Amino acid sequence: MTKIGLEIHCQLTKLESKLFCSCKANYREFEPNHNICPVCMGLPGSLPRLNQKAVESATSIAMTLSCKTPEKIAFFRKNYFYPDLPKNFQITQLNVYGDMSIGGEGYVDVEGKKIKIRRIQLEEDPGRLLYEGESERTKITLVDYNRAGTPLVEIVTDPDFENPRQVRVFLNILSDLLENLGVSEPGLEGAMRADGNVSIEGGNKVEIKNIGSFHDLEKALHFEITRQQSLSERDIEIAQETRHWDDRRKITISSRSKEEDQDYRYFLENDIPWVKIDQETITSLQKNMPESISSKKERFVEKYNIAPQVADILASDKYYSDLFENAHSDSDAKDIANLITTDLMGFVDTKEKREESKLTSQHLSDLITAINDKTLTRTSSKTALQEIVKSGKSVKELLSEMDLGQVSDSTEIEGIIMQVFEEEKQAVLDAKENPETVNYLVGKVMQKTKGKANPTKTLELIKSKLG
Ligand SMILES: [Zn+2]
Repeated sequence: MTKIGLEIHCQLTKLESKLFCSCKANYREFEPNHNICPVCMGLPGSLPRLNQKAVESATSIAMTLSCKTPEKIAFFRKNYFYPDLPKNFQITQLNVYGDMSIGGEGYVDVEGKKIKIRRIQLEEDPGRLLYEGESERTKITLVDYNRAGTPLVEIVTDPDFENPRQVRVFLNILSDLLENLGVSEPGLEGAMRADGNVSIEGGNKVEIKNIGSFHDLEKALHFEITRQQSLSERDIEIAQETRHWDDRRKITISSRSKEEDQDYRYFLENDIPWVKIDQETITSLQKNMPESISSKKERFVEKYNIAPQVADILASDKYYSDLFENAHSDSDAKDIANLITTDLMGFVDTKEKREESKLTSQHLSDLITAINDKTLTRTSSKTALQEIVKSGKSVKELLSEMDLGQVSDSTEIEGIIMQVFEEEKQAVLDAKENPETVNYLVGKVMQKTKGKANPTKTLELIKSKLG
């Protein structure tokens, strides 16, 4: 049996400052090595000061993942040398004197299976190594410390996954939960990273690191399972080790034997006092927690009668559910939900497109009003929606400019029907014989008017002409 476990690192991107100093948590907008100070560079004499907001955000993640939270938390130094780590140790957490990391013993429900969350800890992100050229084998490596000290939450699961597909579903659910919570933007480059560990048939565990994206993680897991299966078939023992994902060759390669906890010579970070997480903090966090995805979904179904699968798609995605919440009234909620999930999601489907989109909730609300009072057909509304996303023009402007309005004028429609009758003589005869085929003619009129003719009126007029 295949067992897969995950270690996910998630940056708390919504925080103002780093974990132990006042440098910006959002390091992405800076020139290399311009978002640093003596504390995050580990200069002698500098002292870390814990960002209380980071503790709160991390605790709310623990609560969302149904974890137990301890009464007090402590920080430890994890000692190792690596060029991206200016202090030569990372400030992180460890459960040695009882449970003292942010949370543990939680779970996430993935398609009816409980994936257990073993531990959640708060720690600092190291800096970044930039390799000149594509390969890690380059002679020149540059170090950018802007990221060093950024608040990071590590989420460790039990090896409960049976296949890479479950891993993908879990990571999607987790991204949605974190985004909904408003503590992280998983779509940002490097904001959410995952390492995996794999073992088959009770054999040794192999860790896979250096995976750039969730998509690559799935590929790396597939590769690793196949590699272990082929070794096992030849009775070769699988070594317990860390392997790196080689993005170019799409394989995992052995990098070093795995360190044990004792190799890091952990010791208490005495520059940071233990932090009490009292009941008052927990209660206030609970009170201020945004509505969960599952209760949002329930509300959409019960209050607005939205189909469960539509409600699920909408509630899981913060960007779209925010648009929806601000657009709808009680009477048009269902229509707006459908407009978002059937039309809008089809073409505003990447993070970049969302950022570029000029569409607001007001647009959605105006569009539905125009469709419902028949000044705009459902077909034309798609064109209008695409134009709004691009230009941000108001629905009113578009109706006059783009000539998208519905044609209800009898004379105009009649003129088009005459053309169609002329071109489709056989279809006209058929329709006279068999009224059920009349829709073909209606379709032709719609085609000529690019979907603008009022369909009810068109049908009426055709029927009366057929006699
Ligand atoms: Zn700093």
